[in-house]
Amino acid sequence: GSAQLDAAGILEKRRRHVGPNLALFFQDEPLHVVRGSGCELFDAEGTAYLDCINNVSHVGHAHPRVAAATGAQLSTLNTNSRYLSQGLVDYAEALVKLLPDPLQVVYMTVSGSEANDLAWRIACTVARAAQAVAGDTRPLHVACIDHAYHGHTSACIDISPYKFKGPGGMGRPVHVHVLPCPDTYRGENLDGAAAARAAIAAAEAAGGRLAAFFSESILSCGGQVFLPEGYLAGVYREMRAVGAVCVADEVQCGFGRVGRAFWAFELQGVVPDIVTFGKPCGNGFPMAGLVTTPQLAQGFAGPGMEFFATFGGCTAAPACGLAVLQVMREEGLQQNAAAVGAYCLARLRELQAEHPEVIGDVRGEGLMLGVELVTDGASRAPSPALARHLKTHAKRAHRVLLSTEGPFSNVIKVKPPLCFNTRQADAMVAALRDGLARLGPEQRAVLAEASRREAAEVAARLARLS
Ligand code: PMP
Repeated sequence: GSAQLDAAGILEKRRRHVGPNLALFFQDEPLHVVRGSGCELFDAEGTAYLDCINNVSHVGHAHPRVAAATGAQLSTLNTNSRYLSQGLVDYAEALVKLLPDPLQVVYMTVSGSEANDLAWRIACTVARAAQAVAGDTRPLHVACIDHAYHGHTSACIDISPYKFKGPGGMGRPVHVHVLPCPDTYRGENLDGAAAARAAIAAAEAAGGRLAAFFSESILSCGGQVFLPEGYLAGVYREMRAVGAVCVADEVQCGFGRVGRAFWAFELQGVVPDIVTFGKPCGNGFPMAGLVTTPQLAQGFAGPGMEFFATFGGCTAAPACGLAVLQVMREEGLQQNAAAVGAYCLARLRELQAEHPEVIGDVRGEGLMLGVELVTDGASRAPSPALARHLKTHAKRAHRVLLSTEGPFSNVIKVKPPLCFNTRQADAMVAALRDGLARLGPEQRAVLAEASRREAAEVAARLARLS
């Protein structure tokens, strides 16, 4: 092994040997964490940080029971899913029990990107078979919601406006149609059916056939946007009328995070054709997948092409996944997400009442929360500089880790492991309250001016790449 490096030494080596566009959290003062437990991370000096953003360490960092179950399997056997394994079928059965009919068939992958990529492949396979029967030769198109992120494979970047309209983006591919992001705070684009009809019309005008519609059930990269009531029902109805498969991306919002339900799509009262999942299901062990209907699974298998992913559903994955589900049940973590999430929301709304001029909106369900910062309550113009300032202050002065999201990076995102408690919620809110209290009128004006400039640049880029 090599000598122990300090943060500067790691950074230096990283610059040489790790891809330069792999961004760090807190770029100016990146954290070197060496240990985690529950909702806390510890740096090399042993300093504790309250992790309010890690939605992968779902049941808590380095959960001993999950680590033990995964480790035991790794030290017994870990091979691919071409051998019979009881773990795989037990895990598939456990997942399916958590889903409504007719979602019964599981495909395991390693990452959320792969799961969404596979969902697109299933939709295309089924659509092409239908086209062959009808003598339809139109190219296959796809719809998604603005500012979404669905993964890093080429097919996923195509359906991720967050990327193709983001820095370095190359704009909307011609086969992709984007529904505007419904903005409940500003009261814009709230009608899902109307948005879907516009996307369908755009696909038809471009000579395509819509094969799939992808959406998160809560728009995370979009800025913790909670869909208006009936939104997905309206979209799904229109999409299904033209034969498009409806995919719910539950990579961030699934697995009990919203508290009131195990899956966030349930809050919308819909049943998707494909549900993709990832991040939380392995508590950090790389596993993900999708669940679909027997009908789509048959259609996908129909042409005879095999499906195989070397690591998808490998023996260790279901051992880990089953342990995560068991810990969730035994520790009542979905119920905890509901209770502590409601507590957090109430405390954040009190903070909003103290600062109505800059906290435009506080929203959420369970432990999936967003605080939208604005330059002033009247214009509701985004304030990325204030959001960034509060995030930095929380880390430096309170060792509370938060992140910013949304097209204008002005939404503070709260999505801690599900074992978050009320004391930790108080610490998180106190960090924000202190950050706001310390702002003098001059600094507020500077941040507002910087935000207006930044937002104008972002708006110009978004318009150029639409
Ligand atoms: N979908 C959503 C909503 C995500 O947030 C992410 C990851 N940020 C992905 C898909 C891709 O998952 P992965 O990074 O595991 O490939």
